[in-house]
Formats: sequence, C-alpha cells, structure tokens
Amino acid sequence: MKRITVAKGDGIGPEIMDATLSIIKAAGAQIEVDEIEVGEKVYLAGNTSGIAKESWDIIRRNKVFLKAPITTPQGGGYKSLNVTTRKFLGLYANIRPCISLHPFVKTKHPQMDIVIVRENEEDLYAGIEHQQTDEVVQCLKLISRPGCEKIVRYAFEYAKNYDRKKVTCFTKDNIMKQTDGLFHQVFDEIAKEYPTIENEHWIIDIGAAKMADTPEAFDVIVMPNLYGDVLSDVAAQIAGSVGLAGSANIGEECAMFEAIHGSAPRRAGQNMANPSGLLQGAVLMLNHIGQTDVAEKVQNAWLKTIEEGIHTYDIYKEGISKQKVGTKEFAEAVIKNLGEKPTQLNAVSYAAGTSFNLPKYQRKAPKKKELLGVDLFVHWDGESADELAAMVQKINTSEATLSMITNRGIKVWPEGFPETFCTDHWRCRFKPVGTTELDKQQIVGLLEAASEHNIDIIKTENLYAFDGTPAFSLGQGQ
Ligand code: NAD
Repeated sequence: MKRITVAKGDGIGPEIMDATLSIIKAAGAQIEVDEIEVGEKVYLAGNTSGIAKESWDIIRRNKVFLKAPITTPQGGGYKSLNVTTRKFLGLYANIRPCISLHPFVKTKHPQMDIVIVRENEEDLYAGIEHQQTDEVVQCLKLISRPGCEKIVRYAFEYAKNYDRKKVTCFTKDNIMKQTDGLFHQVFDEIAKEYPTIENEHWIIDIGAAKMADTPEAFDVIVMPNLYGDVLSDVAAQIAGSVGLAGSANIGEECAMFEAIHGSAPRRAGQNMANPSGLLQGAVLMLNHIGQTDVAEKVQNAWLKTIEEGIHTYDIYKEGISKQKVGTKEFAEAVIKNLGEKPTQLNAVSYAAGTSFNLPKYQRKAPKKKELLGVDLFVHWDGESADELAAMVQKINTSEATLSMITNRGIKVWPEGFPETFCTDHWRCRFKPVGTTELDKQQIVGLLEAASEHNIDIIKTENLYAFDGTPAFSLGQGQ
C-alpha cells in the first residue's frame, strides 16, 4: 500500500479527481490517500503561495503527489504553486507523453506517439532578471552540468524502461555555444552509455518545424526548460487536444503528477469535464510507484472507452463519437472496460516494474581555470563607439587594455559599422598586456579607475579558460 498526497484543486478539479481516483481504485491501485487543500481558497485566505506549511509536510512525507488543476486568483502578488512546487521539491524532469488517438480524436497526425522530456528547474526560468540601463534589461540563462546530466540521463532511462527506440535532443547551440552547447555535449556523452538506443540532435528551430509537421519522425525528445515549455504544449495540441494529456514532474526524492490543462472554471460543477488528462497523470504515477500492472489495466480500459466513442463534450464529434457523456459516466465506462484492451488503437504493455538507474551526480575534478580578461559593462547614452573607446581607454593600465567594445553582442569598436544600431548598454572587453592571465587585483584597479573617471560600470564578467579552452563568447563580427 502506497500513501499518496492528493489535492482536488479548483474549478473542475474535484470532479475530475473523484473520477480519476474511482477508476484507479477500481483497477486495484494499492494506494491510501492523504488529501490537502491547495489553490484559490488558500490564496484568498492570505497565503500568497497557495499552500499551507502543514501541507508541505504531508507532500514531503508521502513523496508522491497527485494534483488537480488550481485557479490562480487574478491580480498580482500570488506565486504560481506549480513553479514553487517544482522548485522546492527539486522536480527536475517534466515528462509529457503526447499520443494521437486517431480516428477517435481529430488530429492531423494519426501516427503521433512522442514523449517530451523537459528540464524543469534551470535555463531562463531560474528567474534571475535585472534592469541594467535605461534601455536594457537582462535575464540570466543558467545551464548547469548536473542539471544537464540529470535530465538527459532521465530521458535515456525513460526510453530504456518504456522500450522507446530513439532519444532526440533539441538545442540552439549554433548560437548559444556555452549554454546550449553544454546541454548538447552532455547529451552526446550520456548517449554513449546507451548504445542500443538511437540518438540524434536537431537545432531547435528546424527540429520544432519537423515535429509540428512530421511528429512520427520522433520518439523521446529531451530539451532545456524554455524550449520544452513551448514545444510540449505544441506537441499535446497537435496530438489532438491539450485536454487529454497528463504530465509527471520527477525529482530525486519526490514527484508530482497532473493534467496539463487548467481548472476550466466555466465548466465547474456541471459534470461536463473530461477527466482524461488527470487520469493520464495518474497512469504516469502508477508506473512511477511500480504498480505497472494497474497502470496498464487503466490505460487499456481508457483507450477502449475512447475507441467505443464514449466521449465527453470536448472531444465529441458527430459521426465519430457514439455517446456524449458527463465526467461520472465516462469514469463508469472506463471502469466497466477494466480488463479489456482496445482493438484499433494500440494496447499498451508496461514491463513488470520499471527500474530507473539514476545515480546521484558526482562532481567532476575541477579543471585548470585561467583568467584571460574581463568584460566591463558600461551604461553610457552617447552614440559614437569611438568616443566611448577614447573615454574608456583612459583606464588602460600597463597590465590590461581595452581590446573590443560590443553593443548587444555586435562588435562596434575597433572598426565598427556606422549602420549598427546602439543602445545605452556597452560591453568593454579588457585583455592582459603581454602575459596571458589577469589577476583579480587588476580588475579591482580597473573598476576603481572607472569610478574616478565617472564611467558607469553596471556589471562585470570574468573571461575564463578551462583546461586551456577559452569559455566565453567572442564579439559578433570579431
Ligand atoms: P484551461 O485549461 O482551464 O481551459 C482552457 C479551455 O479548455 C477552456 O475552454 C476549458 O473549458 C477547456 N478545458 C480544459 N480542461 C478541460 C477538461 N478537462 N474537460 C473539458 N474541457 C476542458 O485554461 P485557462 O482557461 O487558461 O485557465 C483557467 C484557470 O486554470 C486559470 O486560473 C489558470 O491559472 C489555471 N491553470 C492551472 C493549471 C494548473 O493548475 N496546472 C494549468 C493551467 C491553467
């Protein structure tokens, strides 16, 4: 018997949760439920995170959390419970299977059966943003080696356990050579440990176009957070309906399972909502807790019900559907089909138990780190890069001199183009004179001199080489 935490959420949440629990219990799920309250009522009672402290204790104790959608009240100040949960519990992997149910649910892609594995904690979603000048704001894109190793390994382990043939990686490392470059590099490293699973990498733009056009060319796709956020919705939509997909958020200790849709408040309390998305979340949960036989039974009964044309209003189509039903009646139909298998749709077969080999991250031996220079970012509202260079060169020392200025990454000095549009945010790169390395004290000296000359430094970035390889971007046009 496994204790799980359940939150019935808002809007259609309680109805679809009741339906889901009734189906999985009828299928023989060995679960005991601790119910907690999250969402609108908790927010409106003055708790800006939408969840009480005692509820965290229950979630952390049970480690498995099945969550119905919640309503985030309008107006500022309320933190997204989903984001908070993912971050607090370290749920680094978001798994979203997207399968078409042709011809029973309308789709342009009858053969589609893909799983999006999205990194869930870092990338631009670390939420580190600053305004630096009147005209420029920045968001830090952080990609870590442990983050990449964990998500890429999860994708391959998923493929191995669910008998998937190929893992594809999407990045934009032709442009972001450091951040996306690391993700791609780690993908190539870990792929070698799984010689029986095919692997490939696509640049995200053409990869996304291919996925939207020919999804049957893919199997499991792993990608960083932002791309995964966007493309997992695209994938769910083109499979047939965002209303039918569930997702798993997996961490080293805890895991959360949910439908991908929201609380649909206009449909609440009318016994209309489709419980399929949350049921798909519950199937992922049953597999996660090792009750794979129950997961298989539920999934095949659900596929059979869809195939029989027993549909809720959202997927009901004259000519295809046979019977329009409410939430409860749909659940009863699935329960009646427990033990049955679909005949036209592919029946699923989950191996007896899954075994994910996910070792804890081992920190690598540190590399030799050399300081090759420094970028000083300057807030200046002039227009001529030559003028700025003359001003900034006043802080040149016998050890470090200005070597380049860029504006929004494009080299504007020396030998810039007058056509290049410039903002008030300039990067001034200083390189050592003669020796190959700077020391930190020389950077402090540059900053002090800048302050004396009223040069408004808004940020510095050190330029490093690791084991002799320079690890920073050049100026575009350099
Ligand atoms: P939504 O997903 O609730 O609804 C979008 C459309 O899909 C609506 O027309 C709705 O009626 C329909 N729909 C959604 N789920 C359905 C189902 N199971 N059966 C039948 N029809 C269904 O998105 P929204 O309207 O943008 O958001 C409503 C609320 O949900 C907002 O407060 C939002 O913040 C919240 N939300 C919560 C989550 C979550 O808790 N994970 C996710 C997304 C949105």
